[in-house]
Amino acid sequence: MLSKEPNKAPNQFPEKTLVEPQQIRYDILVEENVAGIFYLKNDRIAYANAAFSKVLGMPSSVLTGSSILDQIEEADRQVLEEGLEKIIRGEAELFSEDLQLKQEGEEATFFSLHLKVHSRQEGMVEIIGASRNATARVKKNIEFRKTKSKFEALYRNIIDGIVIYDYNQEKMVDHNEAALRILGYDDSAELMAINRLQLIPKYSSYFPGADMHQVTQYHGERVRNGEAFHSPGLFNGKGDKQVIVNVNVVPTFAKPGEAFVIFHDITSKVLSQQAEQESEKKYRDIFENSHEAIIYRKVSSGCPIICNQNALDIFGVATLEELAALQAKDFFVDNVIEGKSPQVYYEQKMQEALEKGRTEVSFWMKKQTGAIIRVFGILIGDPSDAENSKVISFLRDVTHLHQIQQNLNEKNDELKKYIDSNLQLENFAYFASHDLQTPLRSMISFTQLLKRKLQGRLSEEEQEYMNFIISSSNNMRNLVNDLLSYSRVNTSEINIKTIALKHLLTRLCAELKSSNPDRELQIHFNNIPEYIQADKTKIRQVFQNIISNGLKFSKKGVTPIVEINCREDQQSWMFSIKDNGIGIAPEFQHKIFLLFKRLHGNTEYEGTGIGLAMVKKIIEQHKGEIGLDSELGGGSNFWFTIKKQEALEE
Ligand code: ADP
Repeated sequence: MLSKEPNKAPNQFPEKTLVEPQQIRYDILVEENVAGIFYLKNDRIAYANAAFSKVLGMPSSVLTGSSILDQIEEADRQVLEEGLEKIIRGEAELFSEDLQLKQEGEEATFFSLHLKVHSRQEGMVEIIGASRNATARVKKNIEFRKTKSKFEALYRNIIDGIVIYDYNQEKMVDHNEAALRILGYDDSAELMAINRLQLIPKYSSYFPGADMHQVTQYHGERVRNGEAFHSPGLFNGKGDKQVIVNVNVVPTFAKPGEAFVIFHDITSKVLSQQAEQESEKKYRDIFENSHEAIIYRKVSSGCPIICNQNALDIFGVATLEELAALQAKDFFVDNVIEGKSPQVYYEQKMQEALEKGRTEVSFWMKKQTGAIIRVFGILIGDPSDAENSKVISFLRDVTHLHQIQQNLNEKNDELKKYIDSNLQLENFAYFASHDLQTPLRSMISFTQLLKRKLQGRLSEEEQEYMNFIISSSNNMRNLVNDLLSYSRVNTSEINIKTIALKHLLTRLCAELKSSNPDRELQIHFNNIPEYIQADKTKIRQVFQNIISNGLKFSKKGVTPIVEINCREDQQSWMFSIKDNGIGIAPEFQHKIFLLFKRLHGNTEYEGTGIGLAMVKKIIEQHKGEIGLDSELGGGSNFWFTIKKQEALEE
């Protein structure tokens, strides 16, 4: 056990009885030595030279007898205590350690302390000690350890992947966590097992045409030369994963050919940049290839910033600068647009585009080539930069469309007038025919009365005149009646109901036959539906008019035969009424449906030219169509459709 009594009565330093010259040399050597030299008996200082006393800041006389342990900083005391105990117990002959000495108020001072057993006696070990200031070295060591741990922390925790790669051996030496994460490995062993050739794809679209195995082979050379460098790269991760990286290669200098390969994952950045570039390209393509003239201009100055080729063409200029130099008076044709000067008109429209987001413009413009065109445009406001708001104009030359529109408007006006006058005509036809009926009836009955009264007293010529008056009056009556029926078709509402068509046709045919008792005629019908939905009176009129015509316009000496047929689909019924009569030449076929259009005189075939016009009108009211197939001398086949009620409701 070491003595714990501090600074007890000092043991006597061996007395210098003989002062030999050799002794003097030793004394000088010890006393004047720059290193601290001391002598211990167990832990007690028996002698301290000037250098050691100086370092401890105490005269040798005070030091002598004190425990060396008391001179050591608390933190290091145990180290020395254990060392000394080992020596005293005879387990060690030497002790050597860097220790911090106690030094009040001053910065820590480290000494490298060496103890060596000089002699051992009963219960007493005499030890020679030497100390040398080791502060600088120890501090350096501490600093180094601190720096090392800082770098370790950085290496472990940095978000960049780091692998230490040996280019000489072509193998991984180490890697950090981030390297595993970025490359998608779970297991360190998997990453450690790959080399440069597996890490880097030999060819890739990222470096078109480059053999990256060859390129990176020179990296090893550069590392061996102690060069640090940067390069973009593409790494294979686990499986199909590929990572776009920015790489810094820095030699470790610990071993030739060994380097830190520090890589930063820029995949998402590059991909989003690519996507951005692609979408910008798309917008540019749209901009360049649009049919519109597109101009992006500042609202404050009205000055165009960018425009496409169509914009230059529409203004008839060659460059953006020429376009920018144009003033309102150079291209606006009208002095006033919507009650304002063109300049004010356009400025107001731009403001409107900014406030509402969108507005339209329309004006006449003079191109710089001299041509005058009508322009229609959409202005879109871009207020993103409040100080510098901008407007995008999409302009289009609509001269041709404008012309068509103009023509259309004129035609529309004409049509309106025509419809108005036609309505008036139809009204007139109705009232005229209606009002004409009474006087006409009186005229006919009085002429017939007169004829009867004058019977036998008229000359042959007078008799002929009388007959002429009567037949003309009858013609006129027929005309007035037909005209009235036609007008009624127009004025009366269509009243669609389910009607028993087969029954209706059977009765109609019987009536037609009985009203022509002297004529031989045939009417057949096939596939006629029992029921259809239609306006009964009107559809009866249709069949009556067409069948009557078929019987009327028959060939001389040929028995008229009329065949009625029907085909049905989901949407409608299609009726055909075919005769074996005189037929109609193709060039007249479109005319026969017009009012009063007749292809024959009254002497040949009686009629008023109203029947088919009426038929057409009724079919149109049933949302159907009508037409005919015929040729002169070859009979006629009139067809028409009636829309089914369900189809009408769709
Ligand atoms: P209308 O029979 O009173 O003369 P329509 O309007 O019924 O008047 O017919 C117009 C014209 O179409 C007829 O005058 C006739 O020239 C021609 N037409 C109509 N139906 C036939 C037919 N089935 N065969 C030949 N010509 C016909």
